[in-house]
Order: sequence, then C-alpha cells, then structure tokens
Amino acid sequence: MSRLRRDPRSEWQARRVPAAGSSATRLRYALGVEAIPATEVAVGPTGRPRRDPRTAVARLAVPGTARLRLDRSGLSRSVTGAGAVSAAPQEKLVIVEAPDFWVLALVEAPGGQPTPHDRQVLGAARLLAGPGAREGGGGVILVSAEPVTGAGRLGADRVVTLPVLAGDPVAAAEALAVLAGHFSARHLLAPESPLAGDLARRTAALLEESLFAEAELVSADQVARRRGAGRLEERRRPPRCLTIGLDRVAMHGGSLHEARELAFSASASTASASAGSILSIGPVERDAATVPLAEAEFVVSAGNGVTDFDLFRQLASALGGVPGASRVVCDAGLMPRDRQVGASGTVLTAAGYFALGIAGAPQHLQGIAGVEHVVAVNTDLHAKMIERASLAVVADAQAVMPALLALLEAGE
Ligand SMILES: Cc1cc2nc3c(=O)[nH]c(=O)nc-3n(C[C@H](O)[C@H](O)[C@H](O)COP(=O)(O)OP(=O)(O)OC[C@H]3O[C@@H](n4cnc5c(N)ncnc54)[C@H](O)[C@@H]3O)c2cc1C
Repeated sequence: MSRLRRDPRSEWQARRVPAAGSSATRLRYALGVEAIPATEVAVGPTGRPRRDPRTAVARLAVPGTARLRLDRSGLSRSVTGAGAVSAAPQEKLVIVEAPDFWVLALVEAPGGQPTPHDRQVLGAARLLAGPGAREGGGGVILVSAEPVTGAGRLGADRVVTLPVLAGDPVAAAEALAVLAGHFSARHLLAPESPLAGDLARRTAALLEESLFAEAELVSADQVARRRGAGRLEERRRPPRCLTIGLDRVAMHGGSLHEARELAFSASASTASASAGSILSIGPVERDAATVPLAEAEFVVSAGNGVTDFDLFRQLASALGGVPGASRVVCDAGLMPRDRQVGASGTVLTAAGYFALGIAGAPQHLQGIAGVEHVVAVNTDLHAKMIERASLAVVADAQAVMPALLALLEAGE
C-alpha cells in the first residue's frame, strides 16, 4: 500500500510569512497550512487587518452536514508535495455489495424528513448490522412510505419506498412482512410510536414472531429493556422483530452509506392476502413450552431433586406453565440451556414460580427476585427455596407430580 509522505520542512516553510518592518520571516500565528483567504480579511478604521470570524467558521463546515471539520489545522488535507494543499478530500462512501444478512429499519419520516426517533432506529439497525463492508456483516435497508432525505447519512445501505405503508395498516403490515420474507431479513426494527409500533406488532404477528417492544439497549449480541414497572431488566439475544424506545439508542454518527434505491413491489403479494386475511381476533393458543422464559407469566421449574422429566413436562403443560430448570439440570443436559433460571440464565419477570426439587442457591434466587408468588416442593425443610416460597410443600417431588396431575385431570 502506498502512503503519502509529509515533508515537515516544506510544511514549516509554508507556514512562514514576512515579518513586519524587516526582511526576515516569522511563523504565521494561525497554524493551519492554508493562508487566510483575502475574502476573510478586511481592513479596520485604524488600518489594521480584521478577520471575519463567520467566514472562518463557514470554511470549517463539512459539506452536507451540520458539523465542523475536527482537524482545523488543515494539515490532514491531501498534501500532494512540497507543502501544497489541495481541496478537501471526498468523504469515503461505504458500499455494502453482498451482505451476509439484512436488517430492515422502518421509519415514519413525515414529509420525507427523518425524526430523531427515526434516526435512532437507523442507529440501532446499524449496530445490529455492523459497520458494513466487512465480512460477516449485514446491510441496512431503510423502509418508508415516501423517499427520505439524507438516508445515506443515517446509515442506510439500501432504500425501499413503499407508499402502501401510509395507508391501510393491514395492507401495510402485509407488505412489510412480504418485504422481510423477500430479503430474509434477520431483524425488523421500528420506532416505538403509536403508528409504527402498531405496524411492527401486526408485521411480527404475520411473521409469527414475538415482538421485543421498547428496546432500550441494542448491540450486535444482545438487546435489553425494562420490565416489571422498571424494577427489572430483561436481556436477550437480538430477536427478529423489535421496536426501539425514544431516546434510548444513539443515532448513527459515523460513515456515509450508499443508500441505493431498490424497486420493490409488494402489491401483487398483498392484494390477494389483504381481503379476508383476518381469520380471528381472539387470542391465539401457543404451546407454553416454546415461550421464552423472559416472557413467561408462570414458570414451572425442575431442580436436581426431580428425576422423572417426562412427568415434569406433563405437569408443566397441565399447569399451563413455561418449563424452567436449575443450572445443575441444564448442565446435565436434562433440559435445554435456554431454560435455565438464574443469574447466569434468565432473570424472570413472571408473576408465579413453581420450584420442584430446587435448593435455592443465591444464583438461582437472583433469577426469581422479582417473582411475587413462589411455590416450592422440597424434601429438605431447611432449603433456601422453602424459605423463599409463599407456599411450601415438604415432600418428595416424584410423589407430588403424579398427585397434582391426578388432581388436575379430576378437574380440581
Ligand atoms: C457463577 C455461578 C453461576 C451460577 N448460575 C446459576 C444459575 O443461573 N441458575 C442456577 O440454578 N444455578 C446457578 N449456579 C449453580 C448454583 O450455585 C447451584 O449449584 C444450583 O442452583 C443448584 O441446583 P439445584 O438446586 O437444582 O441442585 P441441588 O443443589 O443439588 O439441590 C437439589 C435440591 O433438591 C432437593 N431434593 C432432593 N431430592 C428431592 C426430592 N426427591 N424431592 C424434592 N426435593 C428433593 C434437595 O433437598 C435440594 O434442596 C451458578 C453457580 C455459579 C458458581
């Protein structure tokens, strides 16, 4: 790689000006390489030169942005030889040709002007996609109802304009779901606002994904939000659909992205689907065993005191609870790792917890710190979990499980 070499002597010479009243030279007080243009210097009534500070500031403005050039010396400008200074360098444009995955960022941008919230959504999308033009990174597609001003500056690699988004929410959600499917989007982000938030929820339902609403912290590895009236923090790997809370994530403040316009027509696929697409407005039944622990309202959990895991799953299902486990059980491979409750597993926001054969180690209890109703079954009267429980059953879990199942089957 060839690098430009600076010649410090010629730069030094370039900064010298004739000293007043002598034939010698002195260093110019302004340390920039560039001489002050004549347009910036006016002569005052006393005959002394005066600088116009406004013009000087205007010279430092970075074209197309509201910020000033950070390097005010001008030395970093392309020095092409003996201290010569050329015009300001062109800003590097980030072009992502074939990203590994896509992140869709839905913005409202009324009148084509992105709101601060829209900018934050793009900032979050950029965090999930990575800086771009790097192996293993993603690309960001900005999706809006009308063309958005300065999409590249917001961090968008592609731009899709879907006028249907401004109309009927059912058709809009279908168009967005088709778009997400078309690009196999890994993430779909929207601002948590009445309209965009509603659209995100409808789209997530069509994609059969659960929506992570009001994310407050976003990184490539995890997202977080507050739960339980702000007492708890829920963290997890970034899900497919999420909305971003206002003023929670910084807007993209880095490189200029390509914002290449893509033509996409969702009309064909949505027109047929929109008529009569609502089959039911009632709650949809879901297998509790597939609900993430962080979203569960009631968790039935097994510890080392449980030996019959088929019976345990049967009981959890009959109780309508989401199955959980202690670390010992997960370590033994008897339950999947994502079922681990505790400090190094999932911290629950559930209202109820049913612990079978769990000792109540501090790391486990941290996971249920916010749970109001705890029922514990343990053979040891002095177990910490028995102490924590509002209802304790000192008995063998293997005997309690079938007994409970029998009672449930009998409808009691
Ligand atoms: C850094 C670190 C992080 C950790 N993070 C977590 C975490 O996130 N989650 C977690 O769970 N653990 C975590 N642990 C492990 C934790 O310290 C305990 O080892 C673990 O929680 C114990 O699991 P347990 O209660 O199922 O098993 P045990 O400690 O073996 O307790 C079994 C309990 O079952 C009772 N019992 C036995 N037989 C029966 C029966 N027939 N019927 C009813 N009860 C019976 C016993 O009296 C006992 O109370 C962590 C540890 C470390 C060091």
